[in-house]
Amino acid sequence: MQVQTINVEIKKTLEILGVNLINDGTSTGSENFSNGEIIESISPVDGHLIAKVKSTSAADYEQVITTATEAFKIWRTVPAPKRGDIVRQFGNKLRQRKEALGKLVSYEMGKSYQEGLGEVQEMIDICDFAVGLSRQLHGLTMHSERPGHRMYEQYHPLGVVGVISAFNFPVAVWAWNVALAWVCGDVCVWKPSEKVPLCGVACQKIAAEVFAENNLPEGISSLINGDYKVGEFMSKDSRIPLISATGSIRMGKIVAKEVAGRLGKSLLELGGNNAIIVTPDADIKMTVVGAVFGAVGTAGQRCTSTRRLIIHESIYEKVKQALVDAYGQLRIGNPLDENNHVGPLIDKEAVNMYKAALNKVVEEGGSIIVQGGVLSGNDYQSGCYVKPAIAEAKPDFEIVQHETFAPILYLLKYSGDVENAIAIQNNVVQGLSSAIMTNNLREAERFLSVAGSDCGIANVNIGTSGAEIGGAFGGEKETGGGRESGSDAWKVYMRRQTNTINYTTELPLAQGIKFDL
Ligand code: NAD
Repeated sequence: MQVQTINVEIKKTLEILGVNLINDGTSTGSENFSNGEIIESISPVDGHLIAKVKSTSAADYEQVITTATEAFKIWRTVPAPKRGDIVRQFGNKLRQRKEALGKLVSYEMGKSYQEGLGEVQEMIDICDFAVGLSRQLHGLTMHSERPGHRMYEQYHPLGVVGVISAFNFPVAVWAWNVALAWVCGDVCVWKPSEKVPLCGVACQKIAAEVFAENNLPEGISSLINGDYKVGEFMSKDSRIPLISATGSIRMGKIVAKEVAGRLGKSLLELGGNNAIIVTPDADIKMTVVGAVFGAVGTAGQRCTSTRRLIIHESIYEKVKQALVDAYGQLRIGNPLDENNHVGPLIDKEAVNMYKAALNKVVEEGGSIIVQGGVLSGNDYQSGCYVKPAIAEAKPDFEIVQHETFAPILYLLKYSGDVENAIAIQNNVVQGLSSAIMTNNLREAERFLSVAGSDCGIANVNIGTSGAEIGGAFGGEKETGGGRESGSDAWKVYMRRQTNTINYTTELPLAQGIKFDL
C-alpha cells in the first residue's frame, strides 16, 4: 500500500464501515443518540483528526440500560443454538469487512495493518468457537443420595454484561466477550477506550445490522462512549451482574472494589510484565525472533509484550549481540506501510512515559545498549514514533517491576539453575504471560511444574505474545485472575443452578435427617 494514498483510503474505509465525521457514541442498535461531550479521535499514525464521537450522558446511559434489560427478557428465551446462528452471521459480516475494520484498527490505534487484520481474524475465530459452544453449554448430572431423586446442574444467562475495554485491542477484546456472552444468552453494553472510539462505532454498526436483519430487539448489543466517568456508571450499577474490564492494574483495582462493594462479579484482564527465560540450551535464532516480535510488536503495547529477558550468563553476550543486530534491522514508520515493523505509540502521554522509563532505568544504575529516542520529521508528524530500546538492568529495579506500555526490553542475567531464572520471573506483582526458550526437557518441565511459572500463560519455545482463542486467556496476581476466550471461560458469563427433582411420594431429607410430623 502506498503511504501517499492513505487519506483517500481511510475515507473509503470509514464509508465502508458507516463511520461518519461526527458520530453518536451511544447506541442500542439501530437507535443512535448521545448528549455528552465530544471525543476527538486523533490518529497516532499522522496526527490527523479522523472523526468525532459524542459521548454518553447519564440520561443516555439510563436509556441504554432500560433497553438492554428489556432485550434480555427476549434474548434469553431464544434457544442457545439459534443464538449461535446469530453469532455465525456476525462472524460472516466480519469476514466481509475484515480489510476495512483491520485498516481502521491500524489507523486509529497505530498497530501494523497485519496486526489489525489479525485482530479481526481473532474476532472471526471466537465467533466460530462460540457457534460450536452454543450446543455445548453443558451442566453435569449427579447421583442423588436419596432414592427416586434426580440431580443436575444447569447454566442460565446472567443478564446485562458490561464490557470495558483498553485501547490496545480496540475490537478483539470486545468480540472475545460478546461472542461468548451472546451464545450464553446475555446482552452486552460496551464502553470502548476513549482513545479508539471509532473502532467501537464501527463494530456496533456491524452487530446492529445482524440483530436488525433477524428482527431481534434493540439492546442485545449496546455501545456507550466516554472516559472513566462513563465506565463508573457501569461499575456502580447493580443492574449489571458482571463487569468484564480490560486495562491497567490501576483501573482494575478501582473497578474491582466498586463491583465487589455491590457483590457483583468482575472479570479482570489487567497489566502484565512478561518475561522470556533463555537457558543455555535455547535455540538462539528462535529466541531472537520471539523476543524481538514480543518486545516491539504493536510498539510494545500488548498486554503480553515481552518486557524482560532473563538470560543465562553463559550465553548472555551472544544473545545480547544477536538482539542488538536484530534491532539494527527494524524499520519504524507508518504502520499501514507493510514494509515497517514498528508503528507509533498511542499518544504523546505514552511517549512521555516511555522517555521517563528510559531515564529511570539509567538513574537506577542500568545501561542502555540500544538507544531510544523520539523520531521527528515528515514521516513522524504525529510525534508518537519512538525507537525500540534495550537496557541492561537488575531484576529488582523499580522500573523493571513496572509495566511501561512501550517498546523497552530489559536484559537480566541469571546464573546457576533454571530455578533461579524462574524466581526472577515470578518476582513481580503481575502474572500474565511467560515463556522459556530451551531444548532441555527437564528445564521446560520444571518451568511448567507447580514450582514453575506463576503466570496464566506459560509457553515453551514460543514468545510471550500472540495467544490463540482456543485456550482460556488471562493472568494471575495483579493481572486480575480473569479468564476470557476459549476453554471453559464461558462459565463466567452464566449463573449455575443445581436442581433436585423428587419423583416419589415420600419426602426423604438429605443426610438422613428425620423430621416426622
Ligand atoms: P486504562 O486502564 O487506562 O483504560 C482501560 C479502560 O478502562 C478504558 O476504557 C477506560 O476508560 C476505563 N477506565 C479507566 N478508569 C476507569 C474507572 N475508574 N472506572 C471504570 N472504567 C475506567 O488502560 P489502557 O491504557 O487503555 O490499556 C492499557 C492497559 O491494558 C495495559 O496495562 C495492558 O496491559 C492492559 N491490557 C490487559 C489485557 C489483558 O488481557 N490482560 C489486554 C489488553 C490490555
